[in-house]
Amino acid sequence: MMTANEIRDSFKKFFESKQHAIVPSAPMVIKDDPTLMFTNAGMNQWKDIILGTRDPEPRRRADTQKCLRVSGKHNDLEEVGHDTYHHTMFEMLGNWSFGDYFKEGAIDMAWEYLVDVLKLNPADLYVTVFEGSPEENIPRDDEAAKYWAKHVPEDHIINGNKHDNFWEMGDTGPCGPCSEIHVDSRTPEQKAASGKTGRELVNQDDPQVIEIWNLVFMQFNRKADGSLEKLSMNVIDTGMGFERLVRMMQGKHSNYDTDVFQPIIKAEQDITGLKYFTFEEEEANGTNKANGTNKANETQEQINVAMRVCADHLRAVSFSIADGQLPSNAKAGYVIRRILRRAVRYAYTFLGQKDGFLYKLVPTLVHEMGDAFPELKAQQQLITKVIKEEEDSFLRTLDKGISMLDKAMDELKAQGKNQLDGVQAFRLFDTYGFPLDLTELICRENGFTVDEEQFNVEMQKQKERARNAAAVENSDWVTVAGDSVASEQQFVGYDYTEYNCHILRYRKVTQKKNEFYELVLDATPFYGEMGGQVGDCGVLVNEDETIEIIDTKRENNQSVHIVKQLPKNPAAEFMACVDTDKRNASAANHTATHLLDYALKQILGDHVEQKGSFVSPDTLRFDFSHFEKVTDEQLREVERMVNDMIRQDIHIDEHRDVPFDEAKKLGAIALFGEKYGDKVRVVRFGPSCEFCGGIHASSTGRIGFFKIISESSVAAGIRRIEARTGKECEELLYQTEDMLKAVKAFFNNAKDLQGVIKKYIEEHDSMKKEIEGFQAQAVERAAKTLVEKAREINGVKVVASVIPMSPAAAKDLAFKIRAAVEGSLLCVLGTHDNQKPQLSIMMSDDMVSDHGLNAGQMVREAAKLIQGGGGGQPHFAQAGGKNVDGLSAAVDKVIELANL
Ligand code: ATP
Ligand code: MG
Repeated sequence: MMTANEIRDSFKKFFESKQHAIVPSAPMVIKDDPTLMFTNAGMNQWKDIILGTRDPEPRRRADTQKCLRVSGKHNDLEEVGHDTYHHTMFEMLGNWSFGDYFKEGAIDMAWEYLVDVLKLNPADLYVTVFEGSPEENIPRDDEAAKYWAKHVPEDHIINGNKHDNFWEMGDTGPCGPCSEIHVDSRTPEQKAASGKTGRELVNQDDPQVIEIWNLVFMQFNRKADGSLEKLSMNVIDTGMGFERLVRMMQGKHSNYDTDVFQPIIKAEQDITGLKYFTFEEEEANGTNKANGTNKANETQEQINVAMRVCADHLRAVSFSIADGQLPSNAKAGYVIRRILRRAVRYAYTFLGQKDGFLYKLVPTLVHEMGDAFPELKAQQQLITKVIKEEEDSFLRTLDKGISMLDKAMDELKAQGKNQLDGVQAFRLFDTYGFPLDLTELICRENGFTVDEEQFNVEMQKQKERARNAAAVENSDWVTVAGDSVASEQQFVGYDYTEYNCHILRYRKVTQKKNEFYELVLDATPFYGEMGGQVGDCGVLVNEDETIEIIDTKRENNQSVHIVKQLPKNPAAEFMACVDTDKRNASAANHTATHLLDYALKQILGDHVEQKGSFVSPDTLRFDFSHFEKVTDEQLREVERMVNDMIRQDIHIDEHRDVPFDEAKKLGAIALFGEKYGDKVRVVRFGPSCEFCGGIHASSTGRIGFFKIISESSVAAGIRRIEARTGKECEELLYQTEDMLKAVKAFFNNAKDLQGVIKKYIEEHDSMKKEIEGFQAQAVERAAKTLVEKAREINGVKVVASVIPMSPAAAKDLAFKIRAAVEGSLLCVLGTHDNQKPQLSIMMSDDMVSDHGLNAGQMVREAAKLIQGGGGGQPHFAQAGGKNVDGLSAAVDKVIELANL
């Protein structure tokens, strides 16, 4: 039996033998593309080739691509774990032809690989072809059907509808019919029992008759008005689910029974002490879901689902952390957080894991996949730490949510109701990450139901809010110069800040009622936002007009210039001029991040790995892996090293279009999770050498000066340094100087400022002590006078007085009086401090036991006269209030209440 690793290799070998260039997987997490957060298909990284903005050579390529389908157009998250063939993260094997072979070649190669090389049984294979769409005027894909007929009998070719068999990149852009290959993997017994042919089960959600490979034939371009035009270059784009192929090759009936997942599942069993049932085991004991008999053992089915969920999500979360995307509360980070929380929830509810669990599986994952994906091995410590921290914090949230739910159920019980309302269920979901099924489960265990309909209404409302906030409308590109919308733009920004140019194309973009235009030029010095460095701004000028460029983004390998208004004559020639003050400041900051990266590695160690950066004209931010706070001494050392390199005024040593492997040999640092082309740019400043496409200072001296302004934690194991350079440092220095001057002025410009401040503090402390002493003496004296002046009513000493005094001193005084009086005592003090009245009652114990008095009750009653309230013990109580004028009446009231 072939192992998963052998199957992966055989795919690459086969397509290599068909003259395909074998290329690396792009990162799973996509940076610098506003339209897509995660790679969800092999073709994502070729989007710009397909759109015609990148050189298609080599025209034949193949790879295995890490994909994640948890958001946007492809979202399989809710299926994962419940079925046995959808994953969040999976590998997609693919082969491409960019204007080389088309339908016949793709079909022949797919067939040859599956049947001749891998020896899958042709009798179990079915293929689909697009049935056509009369309203769009697209005929059936007879061409594909004809080529399939060379390999399979007619009854294995099935017509498919637009949903399954017409592929589109998005609302607009390349599209075309596709052909899927499905495998009937039922056991002979299942086939016999079902009475249905494989053909009848294709695309019917049968867990044993599933799609493994999709061959897409891109031949159209969809425009914004919905119409189709012919694509200038036909493209073959295929995708085959690796885990599904492995399952077919290993004769399994669930992806989770293959060697891709079994080691992880075994680790889960070891930790939880629970058992996972494979398909065969379920068959043997009659609990197989496919036979509809699993109802007998719902608990076991839940354990199975939970183990699949955890095994799957572990991969997705670990790979994304390795790719540089940590869980967070926004965008891609939030998606990862939700996946992780889903796993925690299943482990918590169905596997009895009340403490962190997933992080314990990381060693197994790294052991199994670390050779094929070295990024996992290199970052095992970080992955473990981040997952554990996320688990711990979510488990705390779960606890909070559960107690909130308990309280809600108590209230319902008190009201005699038995249904939790949907708004509350939604709040649990929204703030505590409690999905409806968990809320329902807990409610059900306590005899309650949940208003599901209302929950869905709330959910819908939120989705609409999100949609409205994010809505962006793009018009079609309007071609001005060049021959098509695909004409390429030349980037000259490494060498120039001004350049003659024409507008190639433009389009209007509407975002939240905001309107602007995007321009693509034939040649541009403008750097589009990428790799953490913000885009350039500047102007387009000619004799007739000046158009302000407010920002530059990067899309499909092109700089896209953002302008508020179009030129009157878009076809005219312009000079594109970058705002060089801002550009130079950004460049200096970018170069400084390289030096910072280098210095951190020298001073903290090799584990330091860049985890994100932000470079603008004003500031720079650098995130990196490090497991503790960087000390002040270390920061100072880093600053000294960077500033030293600045003073050496090292010139930039730049290499463009270096083949990737050669760049590695130069010693350049590549980042995990970053996408690099076949040819890369290497930027070196002395010992610092990095892969980088950004704009840099021509020499380090231009940075001027480097100063760290903060060091903090962004997530478990990730630190952030913020720093300033050049002019910003100068400003910083002035601010500090001004502040120091102001402080000195307070102290009459004393020479020894520190000494003077220290003396002031010492004086202040000793004066405070002295005052406290005086106050204690005053209380002592007051106690003495008040006791001397006390009246006696029926054998009870009554001390009553209204005096100015702080609340703390009043309490002190009351206790002193009690200590000074031997017999029965009733002491009532009305004190005031800054117009705030306070009433204190102190009694001897016999007043409580023999006279039946209660100071707490008395103070509450009397405090009404000072518009206040309070309470306390039976023998001592205090109340504050608002009305000072009522104090003496309140004191009298207490004595009246005592009824001596
Ligand atoms: P399905 O209908 O099974 O969800 P799909 O139509 O979404 O598949 P494609 O977008 O055509 O699939 O992707 C190409 C191939 O990738 C599929 O044939 C399948 O083998 C694999 N694949 C798709 N989604 C997943 C997933 N969530 N997990 C594992 N493999 C997948
Ligand atoms: Mg799908």
